[in-house]
Amino acid sequence: MPELPEVETIKNQLSPFLPFKIDESHFSKLTSRMVKKKDFDLTGKTITKIRRHGKWLIFELAPTGFILSHLGMSGRWQTSHEALHDKHGHIELIDHSKKKNGFLTYVDPRRFGHFYALSDEHFHEKEKTLGPDVSSPDFDENIIAESFFKSPHKTLKPFLLDQKAFPGVGNYMASEICARAGILPTRLTGDVTAEEIHKIKSAIDIVVSGAVKTSGTTFSGGYRDANGEKGLGVQHLVVFHQQICQMCKKTPVTKITLGGRGTFFCSHCQK
Ligand SMILES: [Zn+2]
Repeated sequence: MPELPEVETIKNQLSPFLPFKIDESHFSKLTSRMVKKKDFDLTGKTITKIRRHGKWLIFELAPTGFILSHLGMSGRWQTSHEALHDKHGHIELIDHSKKKNGFLTYVDPRRFGHFYALSDEHFHEKEKTLGPDVSSPDFDENIIAESFFKSPHKTLKPFLLDQKAFPGVGNYMASEICARAGILPTRLTGDVTAEEIHKIKSAIDIVVSGAVKTSGTTFSGGYRDANGEKGLGVQHLVVFHQQICQMCKKTPVTKITLGGRGTFFCSHCQK
């Protein structure tokens, strides 16, 4: 599944190709359930900027409007010099003025991604519901403390996957955050101390920025970035899918299932 660092990587890879003037836009028949709202036809609009909010990509359009794209389980935006002809290519945008990378295609084999083309007014309404992004400076220890205080009986690691509380945190990141914070994933949110919240905040910063630098992290999910390349971030993981904890370098990593998701931790380093 593309997680926050992968989405950031796609954003960074697409940005050099802007502005992208949409001379043609094609939506496949299969796209209907993925397109949640479409206030206007994309043809004639220009993508001027791409930013990320949690796991959402936000395309700013000129003269007006926004595209919101969530990549779901297996989505990606890919540039190419000619039509991609991928059977999972659901949205194709074409800029005729570009000799290179004039095709921008949304590819999504499992079709869990969703897409909005919103007027300025509808976008600003939607943006309010997205919450602060875990990688933004606004996402500080107070926000973490408040969400733990409001929900004190949650198990820590599954709670880190709550997209309202921690927008952008995905499954491997949640295990890695607990590990780097030195806290067992099975702890209750109400028992986490202020000092540990400080460690969680530091761990979020490391996990988010470390993975972004190395193009995100790839497992069996088939994630590819905007160049069609697989990510390289796996060597930075300390417990997720590791045999031996990469912090103490001696303790075998324990794997359990929490909230239905694979969870990895070190019984020596995490308390
Ligand atoms: Zn360890």
